[in-house]
Amino acid sequence: MKPVSYPSLASFDGRALINGQRVAAQDGQVFDCISPVDGRVLTQVARCGEADVNAAVAAARAAFEDRRWSGMPPAQRKRTMIRFADLLLEHADELALTETLDMGKPVKYARAVDVHSAANCIRWYGEAVDKVYDEIAPTPSTALALITREPVGVVGVIVPWNYPMIMAAWKIAPALASGNSVVLKPSEKSPLTALRMADLALEAGVPEGVFNVVTGMGPEAGSPLALHMDVDCIAFTGSTRVGKQIHVMAGQSNLKRAWTELGGKSPNIVFADCPNLDRAVEAAVGSIFFNQGESCNAPSRLYVEATIKDRFLEKALALVPAYAPANPLLPDTVMGALVDQIQMASVLRYIDIGKAEGAKVIAGGEQALRETGGCYVQPTIFDGVTGGMTIAREEIFGPVLSVLTFTDAADAVRQANASVYGLQAGVWTSDLNKAHGVARALRAGTVHVNQYDEDDITVPFGGFKQSGVGRDKSLHAFDKYTETKTTWIRIDSPV
Ligand code: NAD
Repeated sequence: MKPVSYPSLASFDGRALINGQRVAAQDGQVFDCISPVDGRVLTQVARCGEADVNAAVAAARAAFEDRRWSGMPPAQRKRTMIRFADLLLEHADELALTETLDMGKPVKYARAVDVHSAANCIRWYGEAVDKVYDEIAPTPSTALALITREPVGVVGVIVPWNYPMIMAAWKIAPALASGNSVVLKPSEKSPLTALRMADLALEAGVPEGVFNVVTGMGPEAGSPLALHMDVDCIAFTGSTRVGKQIHVMAGQSNLKRAWTELGGKSPNIVFADCPNLDRAVEAAVGSIFFNQGESCNAPSRLYVEATIKDRFLEKALALVPAYAPANPLLPDTVMGALVDQIQMASVLRYIDIGKAEGAKVIAGGEQALRETGGCYVQPTIFDGVTGGMTIAREEIFGPVLSVLTFTDAADAVRQANASVYGLQAGVWTSDLNKAHGVARALRAGTVHVNQYDEDDITVPFGGFKQSGVGRDKSLHAFDKYTETKTTWIRIDSPV
């Protein structure tokens, strides 16, 4: 791997941010933040525990109760959020570099995708602050019924490591726009950009105590947040395993609203009458290898109509060398490092299971760039996969594509829906009836037709079945962070 010297960044500040102040964990504990690029320790990060979570929730509660944020005139709250978005863009180089060092994704995507999407999300919800109106119900004229949206109060946010800034923005932006206070717990595997986001929110004018960040491990910092009696809502993105625990913790404590965006094993169905096979191949390969395959909505189950499978795979294999892992700090790299040694070992274990269960590796299948000390895996394609195999059922969350075949539309839908997940799906066909029929029959929160990469902040994102409860993005996200209140006013008409 071509070495790249680390640019001279000021040292990272790994302290938590509570009530507007950077603070160490109360018991002084820290953990090493290790770069998956080459295994070096970037900094030490506060290992927060229950006492720190309690302090952050208390600060968030105080900020909510005195209405320093929710009581701010909407136009001012809007301007503050837009300034926050602008500051993210002004710090795009620093944030992108931090993200790459922290979790291994190529710096060009960290900058062009992660920083920009996070900033766009915060700007979009900021702009909505003074544009979304409440309602008056069509009641008899003897009374007036106002239907208003009110902030739920203190929102706990727990996010994963794959798109740290975007996952955080999808939750904190609608939560802040609707006047809540937030306590964010980033993943222990990628905590650095969340802390910088909170610094920049403060700089933009978000009042102290409104946006707090507690860093640390899931059971030590995440659980106390999900169990907290003074947290009104917990918004979680992560694995289905932990997501289930989040709903239990909400029920065990104060019945806080629990929203979960969880795992996926998304099917991508290519019919023989696909309008553009090259585009279908590029999307199938590009989408599973983007972000090293660490995307919840990655189309990891590829269903190709049996008659075109050989032609499809020949084209797919021709594209694989372009995704060879390389140093993510280099500007042209498209496949970087997996987030850590644990994730790399997990992906390699799935590859071994796929081989042992009889699937055939036709590309990759091995660790890469071992000499760097980083966490790299070759882009991998398995042919001959059948529905019962582990690699067809479980989320691998790495650059591994499982290829299956089908005979007709009914067979494709049956196989595609045979999953505990229901996050996204793809359909490729020139037949409008087939496209529409299959899209309707697929049990998924989003279905892509003749593409797999459309995305916009204006559309909801989330899953059916064990892919979670609730939707991020779009105006629908306000449902998660607001209570609906009815106010009846008696009208004694003077005329
Ligand atoms: P994870 O569930 O291990 O961790 C997610 C977060 O939960 C982390 O911050 C972690 O510290 C915290 N956590 C862990 N145990 C906890 C506990 N007992 N109590 C409270 N918090 C706890 O998931 P991950 O490995 O960070 O992320 C990968 C997963 O996220 C994949 O399954 C992926 O599909 C999913 N994901 C889903 C979406 C979506 O929108 N549906 C988006 C991105 C990632």
